[in-house]
Amino acid sequence: MRRWNGWGDESNSMELPKSAGQFLGEVIGTADCLNDVSLEQVINKVPTSRLPQEHKLISQDKEQRVRHAKGQSLPDWLAMRSGDIKVFPDGVAFPENVQQVKDILAYARKHNVVLIPYGGGTSVAGHINPQQSERAIVTVDMSRMDQLIDLDKSSHIATFGAGTPGPMVEAQLRASGYTLGHFPQSFELSTIGGWVASRSSGQQSLRYGRIEQLFAGGALETFDGTLDIPTFPASSAGPDLRELLLGSEGRFGILTEIKVRVSKLPEKENFSVFFFPSWQLATEFCKEVVQNRIPLSMLRVSNAVETQTQLKLAGHENSIKWLERYLSLRGCKAQKCMLTLGITGNKLQLSATKKQLNKQVTKYSGIATGSLLGKRWQQNRYRFPYLRDALWQEGYVVDTLETATDWSNVDTLMAKVESTLSNTLVDKNEKVHVFTHLSHVYGQGCSLYTTYLYRNGKSYQETLEHWQKLKHNASEVIVNNGGTISHQHGVGKDHAPYLAKEKGPLGMKVLSNLCQHFDPDELLNPGTLINDVLADVKLASDISVNE
Ligand SMILES: Cc1cc2nc3c(=O)[nH]c(=O)nc-3n(C[C@H](O)[C@H](O)[C@H](O)COP(=O)(O)OP(=O)(O)OC[C@H]3O[C@@H](n4cnc5c(N)ncnc54)[C@H](O)[C@@H]3O)c2cc1C
Repeated sequence: MRRWNGWGDESNSMELPKSAGQFLGEVIGTADCLNDVSLEQVINKVPTSRLPQEHKLISQDKEQRVRHAKGQSLPDWLAMRSGDIKVFPDGVAFPENVQQVKDILAYARKHNVVLIPYGGGTSVAGHINPQQSERAIVTVDMSRMDQLIDLDKSSHIATFGAGTPGPMVEAQLRASGYTLGHFPQSFELSTIGGWVASRSSGQQSLRYGRIEQLFAGGALETFDGTLDIPTFPASSAGPDLRELLLGSEGRFGILTEIKVRVSKLPEKENFSVFFFPSWQLATEFCKEVVQNRIPLSMLRVSNAVETQTQLKLAGHENSIKWLERYLSLRGCKAQKCMLTLGITGNKLQLSATKKQLNKQVTKYSGIATGSLLGKRWQQNRYRFPYLRDALWQEGYVVDTLETATDWSNVDTLMAKVESTLSNTLVDKNEKVHVFTHLSHVYGQGCSLYTTYLYRNGKSYQETLEHWQKLKHNASEVIVNNGGTISHQHGVGKDHAPYLAKEKGPLGMKVLSNLCQHFDPDELLNPGTLINDVLADVKLASDISVNE
């Protein structure tokens, strides 16, 4: 069963290796775990539903309302663990087909009810959190629309119900020898509709593309009727309406069908790990590989602190010691950076790519480590999120930030974000452990993914206040220094206050007009993507930023 107050399935968990606990104790100090409330305690707090009229598709069950009240951001996590969930949806709808989605939209319009489209609820930016409102709120959980509807083998186009989660997308395609190749770290729980609505990016975007490249068309149910977007291999017929759906974050309607470009399953796939003596050499290597179009399927470089932290978190102390000794002899010492890469294709492609790659690795003084670490990465690629729970048990909280910027700005932006985070809690006498990797490389630049770890405060409130400062300071640095406010996590409610800096006044007006056009009464996910005009939106997020 899915965890109600954290990540993943209850039967899956992770232990924090002893060496990791010792390491964190040395870097940021030892900590105490805060007490969690139980599901029953939270259910007892759920108020009576305010639905103006019962509807056969909308459940008012209190447990469902708890399970749909929060996503997976750090403040969501703290709210669930403390039981301080201020707003619950008044009901949860589970449509099974397009007609039922239409019925829910009609009900919302007739009764002035707010709707929140919900895929897997894996948002880390407050997308699906209901806000305080005078109006009743219904979360529309798309999980029952989870089927492969059509596979056009000639055109490599697959049509899915929008609520299909990652594992079902791949299982249904693999049965016919195809893959979508979209593997976000939230793959286990996130859905194809959520990927489109929040412009998601998968770990192998270098080969398959981000969801923008994979998304070929589909159907959006709106208050005005159905917006059907046909599939074309390419078109110069004016602005591309797919762009309206990508990143729409539930503001324009409910996506019911998603058509995607699929590929034949590759013959072979290899992941391997290399070490480089420095960040400079590792990033130069990446840039050259991607700009010379050497066909890899993924590329990720951890900076020196992330490399060191990952080696500590891995456990296996003796093997790591041997590895570090070997690397040191080969010139990869304290500043060494770990690079993980994937090659996907047929046998010929793989061997040609490896030849090209080996030359570049040598040129930048990289060291290959054989196949073991690559295999381990592949096996554990969706395990990292379970670490949050293990860290929590030891009294630590962890969160991530991500952005994208041009190559010429990568080092400067990374340094500014990291130093801002490291220094934000100095006045509280608290240390923050910060590290970054680059991934999703493009000819023009890459995404920067920064992780920060700090100790719990003495209370939930204090822990949250620390997060608010960290998030706010880092977001300001990102938008003021040439980074996008989000490369893959979307805008939601947490990034909405920073979006205007990126889009400009005219850009914001266009977005706002689009929302007004599709949803004049602001019934669809208000407060997400852009701050709303109607009075019943009291906060930019459930949590106001405490500057
Ligand atoms: C541990 C973890 C790892 C993550 N890793 C990645 C990663 O590698 N790459 C990445 O891109 N993101 C990642 N994310 C963020 C998140 O998984 C993505 O944003 C994902 O695309 C959200 O999909 P979802 O189905 O869970 O959508 P939800 O969280 O349910 O919703 C997200 C937004 O989409 C809207 N929406 C959902 N379904 C529909 C629909 N059918 N119609 C209209 N609107 C809809 C919602 O209203 C909301 O605004 C991660 C999150 C976590 C917790």
